Amino acid sequence: MKKTILKNAMILTLNENDEVLENSDILIEGDTIKEISKNIVPEGDEAVTDCLGLLITPGFVNAHLHSDENMFKGLYDNLPLELWMLYSYPPSPEYGDFPERLVYLRTLAGAIEQIRSGITSCQDDVSGHPRTTADTHRIIFKAYEDIGMRANISTSALHKNFLDTIPYLRDYVPAELQKKFFDPIPMSEELAEAEKIIKEWNGKGNFKVTLSPIAPQRCTDEYNVRVYELAEKYDLPYHTHICETRMQRETGFEFYGKTIIQHCKELGILSDRTTIAHGNWLDDRDIEIAAETGINVVHNIVSNLKLGSGIMPYTKMAESGVHICLGTDGTSSNDSQNMFEVMKTAALVHKVTQPDYNRWPSAGQIIDNAVKGGARSLMREDEIGSVEPGKKADLLMFDLSAYSFTPLNDIKNHIVYCENGSHIKNVMIGGVMVMKDGELTTIDERAVLSELREMNKEFSERYKKVLPLSDEIFRYIDQSYNTCIEKEDKLWRFSAPLSEYRKS
Ligand SMILES: [Zn+2]
Repeated sequence: MKKTILKNAMILTLNENDEVLENSDILIEGDTIKEISKNIVPEGDEAVTDCLGLLITPGFVNAHLHSDENMFKGLYDNLPLELWMLYSYPPSPEYGDFPERLVYLRTLAGAIEQIRSGITSCQDDVSGHPRTTADTHRIIFKAYEDIGMRANISTSALHKNFLDTIPYLRDYVPAELQKKFFDPIPMSEELAEAEKIIKEWNGKGNFKVTLSPIAPQRCTDEYNVRVYELAEKYDLPYHTHICETRMQRETGFEFYGKTIIQHCKELGILSDRTTIAHGNWLDDRDIEIAAETGINVVHNIVSNLKLGSGIMPYTKMAESGVHICLGTDGTSSNDSQNMFEVMKTAALVHKVTQPDYNRWPSAGQIIDNAVKGGARSLMREDEIGSVEPGKKADLLMFDLSAYSFTPLNDIKNHIVYCENGSHIKNVMIGGVMVMKDGELTTIDERAVLSELREMNKEFSERYKKVLPLSDEIFRYIDQSYNTCIEKEDKLWRFSAPLSEYRKS
């Protein structure tokens, strides 16, 4: 078995005692950390790397992204979620069936950006267009396998006619136009495909499969419950989107006569295997339910700001015992995959939500969210989340001689407030140095990006052809959006008070 010794490093362990070790060594056997101590003497068959002047930390966990959005980097601005989705997830039946090579390259492009910003594990909530199949997922797993990243990959699915996923839409959209929207494929076919993906990939290499109905209101209740039962059967994470926007809060009242969280609790699909992305519009009772049921909430602060979704009640959730993790979200709503941007923004935004400075999130709290919170969400707490014997060797090595760490005062503050990822020298995932001296070792980064640029010309042509349907329905969704925004609701998650928004 391959053995490696990393010598003379400063180590941010994130272990139980939150120790920072000076001048210490790490022995790695295969993909696992075996020993950490002051002076590990090589026995002869180990590869020894001198890490003097480097800071070693656990890798970050990106608990929510959509690699299928990677072609849309930098494309959109100033659209709220529901209208933005029309273009990032075009409802046209013609959208999809992409060339395999494009799917492979776009997945790698996102993985490159993640590794470069210290993300060693991710939850890629991939939407298949027009549907998720074992064949398209095979290409995505292959991309992560080739680059050497640890990943949970999910089988995101919408299971309703698009027109039934948004309140009032059936009332607004003319009958002729309604005919252009299709019903979902039979549930049994979709579940069979998900089971095929689980059997092929779950537990293989660095992979886990996650099951992910896209959002409760975009699927039937029966579908949400059946998928949850499948997650229980195979002991998998269950991942969904809940209360990202004001419109989704209203959707709960329209569809179920209660909040979506309360509805999901009644369906029995909230537990510690459940992760909800966003949660910006959870109210006090919802937050209590989130804490009681043990669900994870992914805080995608950059995406939430970009889409004007509202600000998650971070402090209230954290104080109530809700498990919080961090995500970049997809490239169409962020538009980067950089965990440092997410951490810094999260640490800063919640300081202006209220003046009691004793309750503001600290850099350490945010790093815990980005590492341990993510590990819990991916159901990988036993494998990752700290630098300790028995854990996988998923390690970041920062150059302490860089300006971000000079002069060195408080390591966690430097990571969150001073660094942006550009001073990560090496990244190790499962004992393999996937980035060394700032260069990726497992793939040819320039060749991947260059080929993707070439393929984008053809992709853009095809993409433009499916947009007329999105354009056609835009004004009806805008109408639904405004109807929801104007409804009376005491809950308000925008940063300026309601009185400043309403002119009269
Ligand atoms: Zn998402």
